[in-house]
Amino acid sequence: MSKRDECSPGKSLRPTIFRPTRREFLLYVGAALTAAACGDDGESAASPEAGPELAGDPFTLGVASGDPLAESVILWTRLAMDPLNGGGMPDERIAVSWEVALDAQFRTIVRSGTERAVPALAHSVHVEATGLAPDTWYWYRFGAGRWTSPTGRTRTLPAADSSPERFVIALASCQNYKDGYYHAHRYLAREDIDLVTFVGDYIYESGVEGNVRDHDGPLIQTLDGYRNRYALYKSDPNLQASHQRAPWVVTWDDHEVRNNYAALNVPGLSAAAARALRAAAYQAYYEHMPLRLTPPDDFADMGLYRALVIGDLAQLHVLDTRQYRDPQPCDGAPGRCPSARDPGRTILGGEQKQWLKDELTTSTALWNVIAQQVVFAPVDFGGSFINPDQWDGYDAERQELIDVFAAHGNLLILTGDIHAGGFARLHAEPRNVESPRIGYEVVGTSIASGGDLGNLGPLADAFRDRHAWVEYINAVKRGYALCTLSRSDLRVEFRTVTTVVEADAELTTDASFTVPRLG
Ligand code: FE
Ligand code: CA
Repeated sequence: MSKRDECSPGKSLRPTIFRPTRREFLLYVGAALTAAACGDDGESAASPEAGPELAGDPFTLGVASGDPLAESVILWTRLAMDPLNGGGMPDERIAVSWEVALDAQFRTIVRSGTERAVPALAHSVHVEATGLAPDTWYWYRFGAGRWTSPTGRTRTLPAADSSPERFVIALASCQNYKDGYYHAHRYLAREDIDLVTFVGDYIYESGVEGNVRDHDGPLIQTLDGYRNRYALYKSDPNLQASHQRAPWVVTWDDHEVRNNYAALNVPGLSAAAARALRAAAYQAYYEHMPLRLTPPDDFADMGLYRALVIGDLAQLHVLDTRQYRDPQPCDGAPGRCPSARDPGRTILGGEQKQWLKDELTTSTALWNVIAQQVVFAPVDFGGSFINPDQWDGYDAERQELIDVFAAHGNLLILTGDIHAGGFARLHAEPRNVESPRIGYEVVGTSIASGGDLGNLGPLADAFRDRHAWVEYINAVKRGYALCTLSRSDLRVEFRTVTTVVEADAELTTDASFTVPRLG
């Protein structure tokens, strides 16, 4: 089939990202690739106009890669000569070349091409580099005019029919720029990992004044505001280094839009205003993340949940617990909140829940990994108070899923949001440790959010003692978690930095656990 045939109008593309079965997923990727190769005007991508000469370095925001498959990976950058002020780019399309090589010196280039960065998408670039070998490290870079980007390293997944011995996922979340420095990213960028999964609060939407560093502007209300905020965060060299280390698989939590929002419920906004805010926020998220996604017609509805297959070792499901959820019970206020147990309340929304159930029911992977936002295990603050923003606020749906998990065990849930580290055992009756164990939850503390806290040791110990299913809690230290999946067990290492408010920090391993694969 010629390129022209593939690009013929009328070929149906799914409007949003894959929420499919594995087979549909592969079909979808093929369609998305065709769309990307066609450009937005149907011209051949092989002969783009050169565009204007750029007076300054447009690669101020670094590079990233993400959503790897066995034979392809998404490569990202965004051109921004004046990143904190709308990007500072001419209001026209700009040709961006890209190269993928087997070595950091680009002696052996295996794939290359040219894309266009368009003003409507803030001159962001999402390239799908295809035809790669499975389970292989690659290096990539971009060019625009006389400028060359930093070099990133990325990796394809093991082939679906292969049997990997191990796979290392780094878990990170919550990087409030105002609360501290990204020392954790500096160390993460040195780890021996296959993948980073970032489970939300990549930016915070709040106003200027910070504890350690200031934000660039007031509470975000507009697309330009979100773009500048991503640019501020991405100007951090440690965050850039972390992206350059390995592919990322990302999802959002609340602060990418507004604190504790639920679907179209944003405090103080009408549903229409909330929808407009969400469209701006989701568009900026798309523009700044290495997502395998065709931009939707309406960014207010941007499907993000998806699954990746890591040989026969693991299947990684990435969830969105914000876009479709019912409002938090009890107005979201921590308390006893009996209505949290009302049946029929949803945190996933019906379609995503059914998709997840179908994926789990058909998965034959040794590990079913779920990367998501809010704490899944029951947490009884103060002995009886719950946080209704967590799965505790959606008790019936949690039990419904647990009943599916129980039949298809080997569950590993990766969680962010709460700015604390934790390791819990998940049970068929989540508060009854005598009931069958169905898996584990790792809560990965925060990169920076919360800053340095004093010693809460006795409080943390009391908390852990009240929760027989909780093995470990770190309420004060920032960092990330490494999860090494093997065919027989899971190793979790909680890496923490000594401070995020000082200009330098050391890395320690706060705790580590090796637990068996169940069943
Ligand atoms: Fe957070
Ligand atoms: Ca959050």
